[in-house]
Amino acid sequence: MIDMPFNSPAGFQAAVAAQANAAAAHWFVFKGDRLLVELGPPSGRPSDDPRVAARPSWARLPGGAALLKNNNWLWFEPVRTLHLGQLAGTACWAAEAPAAVDGPPAGYGWEGLRALFSVLEDAHFALAGRAIQLLDWDRNHRHCGRCGAPTQSKAEERARVCPACKLAAYPRLSPAVMALVRREGEILLGRSPRFPPGMYSALAGFVEPGESLEQCLAREVEEEVGVKVSRARYFTSQPWPFPNSLMIAFICDWESGEIRPQEGEIEAAAWFNVLQLPKLPSRISIARRLIDAAVQEMRGTAQET
Ligand SMILES: [Zn+2]
Repeated sequence: MIDMPFNSPAGFQAAVAAQANAAAAHWFVFKGDRLLVELGPPSGRPSDDPRVAARPSWARLPGGAALLKNNNWLWFEPVRTLHLGQLAGTACWAAEAPAAVDGPPAGYGWEGLRALFSVLEDAHFALAGRAIQLLDWDRNHRHCGRCGAPTQSKAEERARVCPACKLAAYPRLSPAVMALVRREGEILLGRSPRFPPGMYSALAGFVEPGESLEQCLAREVEEEVGVKVSRARYFTSQPWPFPNSLMIAFICDWESGEIRPQEGEIEAAAWFNVLQLPKLPSRISIARRLIDAAVQEMRGTAQET
């Protein structure tokens, strides 16, 4: 198994209900999409993520080595709190700050997850990804999607249930397939208009109801670049909390067709020699791991042009 950023960390056990005698806890407190951390001065070493303008030299969860017993240390009343589970026996809680909250106190900051990659301890980083997704889901399911009545959290499982019509809402995941198309010494990369300037990546798209992952891959590649592919080989998967995807990555082979970028979706797409690649996504993403793995495998046979 390939260990990816955001994968559930070793030693973590998810649990909806808190243990009655839990002595101390890690707190994952979010304001919007930013996590409350103790943090050091700006780092002199830039991030490999073009979306990150600046990152701290170090960051850690509030309390540092001293764990926090409850949320009395917060200078505001959280909008919602959720028990995530235990990391090596220590309780983990997610909390949401009001949008208009003041602060934070000196030595603390609100940081986006991308800026905290490889700065915050890996296990805490992964659980922050879990926390933001569950807070987001909880906030978006306060009312029943069928009858509109206020919902209630279920005590024994991660669900919100409507007391009026009994409809249950579970945390939503949106599976998305990523495809790296290869042919003799080259890989097909494209760029969305939303990408940072100059960056190219593997193709990706959401799975539709009634579709297998392989069917999604074939459809997405054909829609986005007009190319037919074959021999899809599973690479690995990654939880992706921007906002709630599960990325499932494949390598596949070009079969036929010339590149025709889909208008509005793909700004540019091209075959790249594996020895001359453009700017690639950050190592935080499965896209980069997928490209690196394929390129490493192909470089043995590629010719410099
Ligand atoms: Zn209802």
